[in-house]
Amino acid sequence: MGKTAAELAEIFRRYDAPDYRHRQVFHALYRRRVTTIEAMTDIPLRLREELARDFVITDVEVSQTFESSDGTRRYLLRLADATFIETVWIPEDYADTICISTQAGCPIACTFCMTGRLGLRRQLDAGEIVSQVALVLNDRYGVGGSPARGTNIVLMGMGEPLLNYENVIRAVQLLCDPRGFNISERRITLSTVGVVPRIRDLAREPVRPELAISLSAPTDELRNQLIPLNRRWPLGQLMEVCRQYPLRRNEWISFEYVMLDGINDRDEQARQLVSLLRGLRAKVNLIPHNPAPELAYRSSPMDRILRFQSLLREGGLLTFIRQPRGRDIDAACGQLAARRPPTSPAGGEETTGTPPAQCDRREYE
Ligand code: SAH
Repeated sequence: MGKTAAELAEIFRRYDAPDYRHRQVFHALYRRRVTTIEAMTDIPLRLREELARDFVITDVEVSQTFESSDGTRRYLLRLADATFIETVWIPEDYADTICISTQAGCPIACTFCMTGRLGLRRQLDAGEIVSQVALVLNDRYGVGGSPARGTNIVLMGMGEPLLNYENVIRAVQLLCDPRGFNISERRITLSTVGVVPRIRDLAREPVRPELAISLSAPTDELRNQLIPLNRRWPLGQLMEVCRQYPLRRNEWISFEYVMLDGINDRDEQARQLVSLLRGLRAKVNLIPHNPAPELAYRSSPMDRILRFQSLLREGGLLTFIRQPRGRDIDAACGQLAARRPPTSPAGGEETTGTPPAQCDRREYE
């Protein structure tokens, strides 16, 4: 998993196999999503045996799955080096969504996010990224199966996708390849805290997902506290790159805003957000904060979120409130910390690493 058609072609040259073999293997890996080399029955047995000696389809394994009362399923996945990552499958009315990780852990250390407390364990390679999609699709719809209504992919699991740029782009290309997973680029969304130069690069990619920006604060002063990367690329630069971003037909930039009680949910902040996003083809998703015992935040109450939404709407912004999914199994936004097993309400299970030094949570307590 993760190899491009050109790389597969190169491998088959070494095996002295005819050129079309690499296309058969590409199809078997990314379209039929076979789980063993043995199952590539259009390849001669001898060659399959040789391949099986030298390669595995994927070394990502499902370690555990957790089922939410709302139907969401969280997959705890084990990588070859015993690193753990998570993937989430979210059934919805119109299409199911698979939320995939792009890094093990995350280096950004947003103060309201559990993944941020892990720090970066390591980058995922393209094979580890697309394997998550293959594992979940095979589990939910049978090997090679897909739902008739299609699948959405969100790069919103663990990690900051734009800090693993090359692997992420390669994975997106395999997911979108009509001879591969054949998922439309318009059904894939990449979420970033705002790695400005990489957003500029993304704009130039021939195949690119939809863009979501995790904003969560309307001013640099507050955003510096919540999302440390803002110090490197402050809002002025981030908004400028968003304004220059070439949007396709019916395309919007989504802005995610985690609702933190008493911190970023005041009327005045809604007005600041309206002026910050003025002139952009922007869609705002308000995300109630998902709790964890280790996080010193409370979600804004629903009446506050509704009030914030109405102020944004009055200001002309298309604004939605995101329904939390899979909270009871630690599968919701910001809860992914590769906990094994999931923490019970009593807590006290499995440590998730120490919080990074720069994260001073006392300020918000
Ligand atoms: N690193 C990327 C991809 C992760 S997306 C990014 O931050 O955009 C995960 C989304 O969940 C982000 O919008 C993030 O701000 C949000 N989030 C993080 N912790 C959260 C929490 N505890 N509750 C609700 N949303 C949270």
